[in-house]
Amino acid sequence: MAIKALQRSAIGPARVFEVAPDVACLELPIVNVCFIGERLARDRGWVLVDAGMPTSGHSIVREAERRFGPGARPSAIVLTHGHFDHAGSVRSLAERWDVPVYAHRLEAPYLTGRSDYPPADPTVGGGAMARVASRFFPRSPIDLGPRLRLLNEDGSLPGMAGWRWIHTPGHTPGHVSLFRDADRVLIAGDAFVTMRQESLISVLTRRQEVSRPPAYFTPDWESSRDSLQELARLDPAIAATGHGIPMFGIQLHSELEALARYFDDEIPRHGRYVDQPALADERGIVRVPPPVFDPLPPLVLSLGVLAILGTKLLRGSPVRRPALLRG
Ligand SMILES: [Zn+2]
Ligand SMILES: [Zn+2]
Repeated sequence: MAIKALQRSAIGPARVFEVAPDVACLELPIVNVCFIGERLARDRGWVLVDAGMPTSGHSIVREAERRFGPGARPSAIVLTHGHFDHAGSVRSLAERWDVPVYAHRLEAPYLTGRSDYPPADPTVGGGAMARVASRFFPRSPIDLGPRLRLLNEDGSLPGMAGWRWIHTPGHTPGHVSLFRDADRVLIAGDAFVTMRQESLISVLTRRQEVSRPPAYFTPDWESSRDSLQELARLDPAIAATGHGIPMFGIQLHSELEALARYFDDEIPRHGRYVDQPALADERGIVRVPPPVFDPLPPLVLSLGVLAILGTKLLRGSPVRRPALLRG
């Protein structure tokens, strides 16, 4: 199965990967979203999977209208999970299109304002995305109110005949992946991804590589391993994930199988959630392990102070004491 990469541009390049005749993956600056539906399916004839960053709404609408026709609205939005980079534009899009948003019942607390996600663990993963950027990623819930609907327990998906959802917890408690048996297309969210999300270099180069879920935001490694192994058993022909370029064929098969077999080697040796997971139920997060030693904050603070002092000296202005230190 070939993937066509269509290069187009607006404010910066945005690529669309046609992973099946009725499945396309839009690559946004940090994350991907998928469109499910025949071209020119028109109003209410298609489904959006995930909703990108808070700034992604315009790009998603533009691509939707290009694919399905001017003014075409989806019949539903399905969320693999509610992290800020997957649900960032969901409220504004749901309102604009007047559509319901579907998610797993264990993801509902983070989509109805009830619970924060557990804190990120910047000590795992190793790359700049993990060590620095993850500290600033939002984890507070959004509130979709009555627009949120729970996925049907029978595994079916609204407006997506032939597809089923699979509960793949670990990265988040109610994370789901979507699978179509007929052509073995998998939309895996962040259950695994196709680039090393913790590494800024990988994020910039988009080097394809079947990789564990983004480590800094994964608070349950055992569940994550079980979920990954369940997805590998499906032997997908093609996988579109939340981050990275879709993968297919022998490279996907061999790398996914290797990750499933050696997943324990991919679990960080030390970290907040390595020995014990964050515990969650229908109410949201109920217990979070204490933080582990994090060597970076004093360093970040020192660099920040040095930068301020340096700027003041270069400008030749006197260094004012911060308000807190003034007598
Ligand atoms: Zn995520
Ligand atoms: Zn993500």
